[in-house]
Amino acid sequence: MRIEDVVCPFCGCLCDDLVVSVEGTKVLSVENGCTLATEKFTGDHRLAHPIRRTGGSWEKTTYDVAIRETAEILLDAERPLLYGWSGTFVEAQTIGVHLAELLGAVIDNTSTVCHGPSIMAIQEVGHPGCTLGQVKNRADVIVYWGANPIEAHPRHMSRYTTFADGFFVKSAFRDRKVIVVDIRETDSSEIADEFVKVTPGGDYAVLSALRMIVRGKGELVPEKVSGVTREQLFRVANICLSARFGAIFFGLGLTMSRGKYKNIRNAIELTEELNRHTKFTISPMRGHWNVYGSNEVFTWITGYPYAVDFSRGIAFYNPGETTSVDILRRKECDACLVVASDPGAHFPRACAGHLASIPTVQIDPHVNATTHLSRIQIPVAVTGIDAEGTAYRMDGVPIRTRQLFSTDYPDDVAVLGRIYSLVKEAKG
Ligand code: SF4
Repeated sequence: MRIEDVVCPFCGCLCDDLVVSVEGTKVLSVENGCTLATEKFTGDHRLAHPIRRTGGSWEKTTYDVAIRETAEILLDAERPLLYGWSGTFVEAQTIGVHLAELLGAVIDNTSTVCHGPSIMAIQEVGHPGCTLGQVKNRADVIVYWGANPIEAHPRHMSRYTTFADGFFVKSAFRDRKVIVVDIRETDSSEIADEFVKVTPGGDYAVLSALRMIVRGKGELVPEKVSGVTREQLFRVANICLSARFGAIFFGLGLTMSRGKYKNIRNAIELTEELNRHTKFTISPMRGHWNVYGSNEVFTWITGYPYAVDFSRGIAFYNPGETTSVDILRRKECDACLVVASDPGAHFPRACAGHLASIPTVQIDPHVNATTHLSRIQIPVAVTGIDAEGTAYRMDGVPIRTRQLFSTDYPDDVAVLGRIYSLVKEAKG
């Protein structure tokens, strides 16, 4: 069977034009997808059944036992942490937030190690953003700052920017100027019209220098700013000022380098300065598939986008204190439920060490680095392959994903719903 208009379940681009051929419960081929998408659809690393650790080895168990033990672990804990959520759909994320409230737990999503600083900056100064469709149809200047889309979001350039012809940009490759700002040359910088090489940690100073030029104070800019010549800074500022519509996309190179959320605040303020002269927008390159959705769901229900602590009986949020990495580093939590993410591969060693020392349960279709830190793993259906649900694209557009075929795996909603019911019953 050949299925059209399939939504990719891998990165924040949520490309919705894939054509997938399936036979029974096997994906035979993927058209239009990048290599990351093909690997996601055809990869064969799924866990066949729930497992639990006994002594030094794993044993096969049933869903009933795994779910009941997970509920008991969470109920026994004084400060449970519910982490992850970016790889699942919003319906499951919603149950996660309600479960955290019931338990008085901390619930956090993967923003904590990616675009958390971007959200903090947006809370301070707002977000002059737009949809990717607007960028495709209108933008004649694109800036990638601290991002390498060719590797991390392989179809971003072909669907929305460099190679994507739009309504007002008839020949994208000829008519669009692309500026890449990074600390090193990348595949993306190689095809840029202008590559701005910044010394590590120098983004804030470069952003400030550009703001000075746009503000008409260019005479105060020194000969070199963080490795970038005054001449190039003026050239970049002039490209931006002469845009009809410009779009800045920034990645972890900006959010996670020295300056952190202040970098993003400065970039947003540069965007605001440019808007005094022309039309400019700025957007984060969200990486994890539905991480944007987790921020939306957390905010709908609690008022806060990530790192929400219910231990006081009400929602409390204080990045640096209630964020997962800080809680784990302080060895504060005594049980952890990991859903649809892999902290074992991404968290600092001390945090991974603490996860291994407490009862950690993972709900995830695949064996990954977190499996080795867990006591129980419950495999589930993969959203967008054998489960359907709603996810948010990196520009905040919700997209309904499809179930391509049925398997015996329950989806995240089914597993989390049962854990929630058991906890609710025990709490009375
Ligand atoms: S760019 Fe991202 S969403 Fe698009 S096909 Fe590749 S992995 Fe999937």
